[in-house]
Amino acid sequence: MLTQLDQIESQARLALSLVKDEIGLEAWRITHLGRSAPLMQVFDQLSKLSKEQRPLIGRRANEVKRALETALTEQTEALHQAALHRSLEGERLDVTLPGRPLPLGRMHPANKSLQEVIRAFADMGFQVYRTSEVETDEYNFGLLNMPPHHPARDMQDSFFTTDPGIVLRTHTSPGQVHTMRAFYPEPIRHILPGMCYRYEQISTRKESQFNQLEVLAVDRGITFGDLKGTIADFGRRIFGENVRTRFRASYFPFTEPSAEVDFECFLCAGKGCGVCAGTGWLEILGCGMVHPVVLQNGGYDPQVYSGFAAGLGTERIAMLRHHIEDIRYMWSNDLRFLEQF
Ligand SMILES: [Zn+2]
Repeated sequence: MLTQLDQIESQARLALSLVKDEIGLEAWRITHLGRSAPLMQVFDQLSKLSKEQRPLIGRRANEVKRALETALTEQTEALHQAALHRSLEGERLDVTLPGRPLPLGRMHPANKSLQEVIRAFADMGFQVYRTSEVETDEYNFGLLNMPPHHPARDMQDSFFTTDPGIVLRTHTSPGQVHTMRAFYPEPIRHILPGMCYRYEQISTRKESQFNQLEVLAVDRGITFGDLKGTIADFGRRIFGENVRTRFRASYFPFTEPSAEVDFECFLCAGKGCGVCAGTGWLEILGCGMVHPVVLQNGGYDPQVYSGFAAGLGTERIAMLRHHIEDIRYMWSNDLRFLEQF
């Protein structure tokens, strides 16, 4: 019977060495360690053996059983390892390779500049008010004291839509009338930022789309002194504590009196350089006291109220700051340009 146990063990081991997968392992377990396996029949017969033989055979049978169980565990593990190895080889996945970095976006220089200008005015107590980029002829021109055939319209070549009287706004100034009509009779301290469109001959200095920011203050007793103080404060916030400001008389249909504002060149501190074309001054914005007709169109009685307005192109500030020589870079979506900011 001992010989029989040896045979059982060696046959089982041989069979196990031929098993190639998990289904085979389970079949082997049933055949060699299951209820009706030859080994189990030996256990069944123990009671029939003599007192001398019983412990001898019993011990050996237990040895074989443990040995086969161990062999099964080992073979299971070996098959798992082999499967893992095959899948690693097959998929060629190298987990030690460094990952591909995701390209990280950043703020567009035009938006960055717009945000800085907005922040400067917000710190002075102005609120952002946004109006539509599509306007009626009336809001874009008429209500701003530019009736049909007014020569000032010629300064702003426009994109008219196929709907009569509907135009892409050529400036943020139509927002003046919108905001006055929305807030009358409240005092107004608003900035109106956003994209404007003109049918331009595109050049290094002119694009058909650009950001503008309109400043509007309306209240009782607002004077040109308030305008000058606000603009000078803005200049210091954007160009530095000691920057000087220069007002030159100008003309806009929707302000009276009107002025162009220059800030001292921040690059050469007024000495004259390439950026300021040797003048020492940079043209930054247009402004003036809100024209009585415009106040009236907004619902404010010009006998009681007064106000000032200013408008500036925020791309121009970015261009001056970063020495960008061509405005077309702003909207050409060239990453070589955009990644520099
Ligand atoms: Zn300069």
